[in-house]
Amino acid sequence: MALFIGSDIYRLPVFAPPHPLAIPRAALAEDLCRAMGWLPDVQYRTSPMADIGDLTAFHEPDYIAALIEAEATQTLPPDARALYRIGADSNPIHPAVFRRPATSAGGVMLAARLTAQGGIVHAPGGGNHHGQKARASGFCFVNDIALGISTWLAQGLTRIAYLDLDAHHGDGVETAFADDPRVLTISLHEAGRWPRTGTQHHPAQSIYNFPVPAAFNDSEFAYLFDRAILPLIIAHEPQAIMLLPGADALADDPMARLALSNNCLLDAAGALKKLAPRLVVLGGGGYNPYSLARAWACIWATLNDIPIPATLPQQAADTLAGVAYFRAAGRTPPAHWLTSLRDSPNPGPVRPEILSMEIF
Ligand SMILES: [Zn+2]
Repeated sequence: MALFIGSDIYRLPVFAPPHPLAIPRAALAEDLCRAMGWLPDVQYRTSPMADIGDLTAFHEPDYIAALIEAEATQTLPPDARALYRIGADSNPIHPAVFRRPATSAGGVMLAARLTAQGGIVHAPGGGNHHGQKARASGFCFVNDIALGISTWLAQGLTRIAYLDLDAHHGDGVETAFADDPRVLTISLHEAGRWPRTGTQHHPAQSIYNFPVPAAFNDSEFAYLFDRAILPLIIAHEPQAIMLLPGADALADDPMARLALSNNCLLDAAGALKKLAPRLVVLGGGGYNPYSLARAWACIWATLNDIPIPATLPQQAADTLAGVAYFRAAGRTPPAHWLTSLRDSPNPGPVRPEILSMEIF
């Protein structure tokens, strides 16, 4: 039985438009799963909040202290902002700037503990893959992924695979485990997009990066997933896999130019489920609340072997109809955002830049 980790802290409207995170995300995915009748209480766990001791397993104590100060005072001195990038670079100081990322970390660490003996957990509030040891980056204040993987390592696991399908390079996780051969990190992301890292493979460090061109389609995804990504994961013989699906590689996302249908993400989750006794699926990026919630609900269904209906029951349609989305597209959402869970597939040619990618 798969478990779902959520928290009402994700319902706090802590970001304001035009910040891309000023949309319902993990809580909307949870609400959609409930509206589908897919989330009985027996499968739900409330995320604990990580404490300072938990967080300093990866982060520098002074950085965590600054995050706590930022929440308490809603400001930081200029030198601390400059050093820690809290209240800088689109990482705004908000009313839960410590508690919310600490809850995401607590959730992913709980997921690692719940799977100590095996199992599947979906924690869509986790997935802050840009977070650095002593610096906020890319809307990420705490690297919950590094903390979750470290929890597995502390249990004695020696072969862990991390797959990042977000449109942005998973730089924080890659850096965290660059010198640890126990952790394979694979990131597939849009070439040339912020943070502009992840341009090449580093096989000696078990780091693999697949920077893909704009308009990346379902056929190209299947090509790379089957021929490159799955074989790399299988060769690592993982005892545990952490998947960051994101939702910003989807065609409907406003922050990237990739063109996947959500079928790619749920197919990936379905394939990984068979490859290791432990699987934790996170959330990650994604800036269109409709496509994010639909994708992550489909992933939850896939993890539970629940068939996904072609048309939404009324309660689920009502959940999506109630979404507030500040972008222009939110005023007249296309029908498929409101009436279906699965996207129509988006097949296409496998372009030369994909065919020429180095495959191991
Ligand atoms: Zn992203």
